[in-house]
Order: sequence, then structure tokens, then C-alpha cells
Amino acid sequence: MHRFPYLALLLIFFVSLPATANRFADVQINATPLADNLYMLTGSGGNMAALVTDDDVILIDAQYAELADKIHAKLAELSNGKALGTLINTHMHGDHVNGNSALKPGRIIAHTNVFKRLSADASFPRSGLPTETFVSELRLNLDGESIRLEYLPPSHTDGDIIVWFEEKNVVHMGDMLFEGRFPFIDLSKGGSVRGYIANVAYVIANIDDNTKVIPGHGALTDKAGLQRFHQMMIKTLALVEQQQAKGLSNEQIVAAGLGEEWQAWHWSFITEQRWINTLLQAEPLSR
Ligand SMILES: [Zn+2]
Repeated sequence: MHRFPYLALLLIFFVSLPATANRFADVQINATPLADNLYMLTGSGGNMAALVTDDDVILIDAQYAELADKIHAKLAELSNGKALGTLINTHMHGDHVNGNSALKPGRIIAHTNVFKRLSADASFPRSGLPTETFVSELRLNLDGESIRLEYLPPSHTDGDIIVWFEEKNVVHMGDMLFEGRFPFIDLSKGGSVRGYIANVAYVIANIDDNTKVIPGHGALTDKAGLQRFHQMMIKTLALVEQQQAKGLSNEQIVAAGLGEEWQAWHWSFITEQRWINTLLQAEPLSR
């Protein structure tokens, strides 16, 4: 009588345990060269970038602690064994900062709101907290390489920066860009739908056709890719606003969907339904 449920529980245990333990086992850290000594790195979590100079190795974002050894191995390969000196966090989400402590960089730079939110999280390792913070802009000059960290108003969260590699004409946008998919806008962490769309427009206005654009998630892209992303947000927000103007309820708007044109942007994390629910929370336009 009791044997079956017991066996079933055991099976669930043995089937689920290896899946959890091995979540990162097969993840590879891959480097795509973007310019001299500048690479986009992918693994699991937010896309990273690495810049190698004579004096320092600079890494943008940290993915997960479980990947720290693999990230170090890739940085060592790209830099002839130099140590990671500077880690920059684009924002506070776990898939960008979980590896902070395990990577043991010389310093960690982030926006002040990232420091505030991470230090308020008792489960976040103290050794992974940012050691240097700034409010609006920070410029790093390293061996003739200039990196400009620019804070943009609340959008994905309230602590997002973008990283300009100015001489190389490359920008790392963190999660202000989800290439080819609906974006996550974290309203519980100070995010803003209209702020997000405005920030993307700002970046478009400040790059050229040759700029390489690193998204927080998805493939390397360019100005045209960023414009497509911007248009998707403008048009889907307009659709939702038209439905609201007709007097449809939120449930009816979600049920109606966005139509065929936007199906390709739907993905497992931000489904069409979740994107509509985000758009429904766009701040009213001030009149
Ligand atoms: Zn994020």
C-alpha cells in the first residue's frame, strides 16, 4: 500500500538532484573578439565583456559563483595569466552579480543603488559587495583605454549603468537590452517602462552604424538591432494603450494578445502575457 508513493518520492529525488547539481556543469565560457583586447563573454546568465590592458583585466558582470573557475580560466587565456583587477556590475540582478565574491577581483564598481540593494540582502556575500560606487558617471583611464560608466534613469531597475568603450566604439548595455526578445522590467526594484524605452532611445541617438552593442541577454547586435527592439516596445505599448482607451479590462487585453507580428519576441521568461502585464503598468503620461 505504501510502497508506491515511497518509490515515487525516491525517484523524484534521484531524478531532480543531478539536474540541480549539474546546472552549470556543461556551461562553457565563450569569448567573441570585438576589438583589440576587448571581448564579449557568454556562459549562463547576463552577457559579460572583458577588456585586457597592460595593467589590468576588467570584467563587466559576473554571472554565477559556480562559473567563477571557468571565467577565470577564460580571462587567463585572453590575458596571458593576468589577475582580474576590476569587476564592474551593470546592475544588481543575481545573474550579473552572483559571481562577485567567488571571482575575487581587486575591486568591484557599481552604481550606489546596486550597493544599497545588495547590502540590504542578508544572503548576499559581504565580500561580493561593490567597493567603489558612483552616482551619475565614472570614467576609468587605463593604459590609454577609456571606459565611461554612465548611469541612466530608472528603467530595468533603478541602478542600471551602461558601459562605453569609447575608442573601440562598443557599448555594453546590460539588461537595458534583451536582444530579439521581450525585456524584463523589474518594477519591484525601481524599474520603469517609459524610462526603459526612453533609455534605449537615448543610446540609439548616441551610437553610429558601426557601434557594436552588447546586450544583457541575447546575441551581439548593432544600432539597427537596437532600433528594432525600440520599435517593438513603442508599438506594443501603443497597442495596449489603444485597448485601454477602448475600455477593455486588463484581463481582456491579456486575452486578446499582441498579434502575430510580435510572436517571435516571446520567450520562456518574459512570455507575451508577462510582457503585456508589464506594459499595463506603464506610468501614465504626464499631460
Ligand atoms: Zn537584470
